Amino acid sequence: MKNVVIASNNAHKVAEIETVLNFEGWTFQTLREAGVESDPVEDAGTFLGNARIKARAARALAGGAVLADDSGLEVDALGGAPGVYSSRYAGEDGNDAANNAKLLRELASVPDEKRMARFVCTLVFIDDDGSETVAEGTIEGRIGHELKGDQGFGYDPLFIPDCFGGELTLAQVSQNRKNEVSHRGAALRALRAELEGK
Ligand code: IMP
Repeated sequence: MKNVVIASNNAHKVAEIETVLNFEGWTFQTLREAGVESDPVEDAGTFLGNARIKARAARALAGGAVLADDSGLEVDALGGAPGVYSSRYAGEDGNDAANNAKLLRELASVPDEKRMARFVCTLVFIDDDGSETVAEGTIEGRIGHELKGDQGFGYDPLFIPDCFGGELTLAQVSQNRKNEVSHRGAALRALRAELEGK
């Protein structure tokens, strides 16, 4: 048996992690379920650095195996912004509507062919013995001109992945379909492959 503490209280992320890392004998707990509170300052400047900060902070408090992720949106025409600032792009942490409105404003004069973007997700897994495994996943696409769809979260209503023929946003497809192609799904499958190879 192995219990893994996920350095997040986001139910959506936990469900996705449980689905992909369904190893025999593994159980998962959120920080809250593990009875700890961890909210470290994420000031590393990279997704990997921030995921590592979250993983190490969770391990220091909960002990044992932990898994942390950090993710965000990189827009080419904005030099990679909002990047690690994705959740607080418009100032207030986690205000999706304000973040999307700001992104549309910043790209107002940018034509279709220059609206390329990607979601990135980096995972850091620290095993019981302290060994660290890192995995990353991305999904390529472009930013639309208006919000479309009401599923998902964050920038999903503006993000048009290349893989759906360049038409639908990530907010216009089911959660299952999103998981099959998303940065987080890809990072989790890469982590699974790494752990199976050990
Ligand atoms: P965090 O990794 O939970 O800190 O997420 C960072 C931010 O990136 C979120 O608040 C969203 O704004 C954005 N983001 C990350 N993953 C997604 C996604 O799958 N869809 C839409 N936005 C995302």
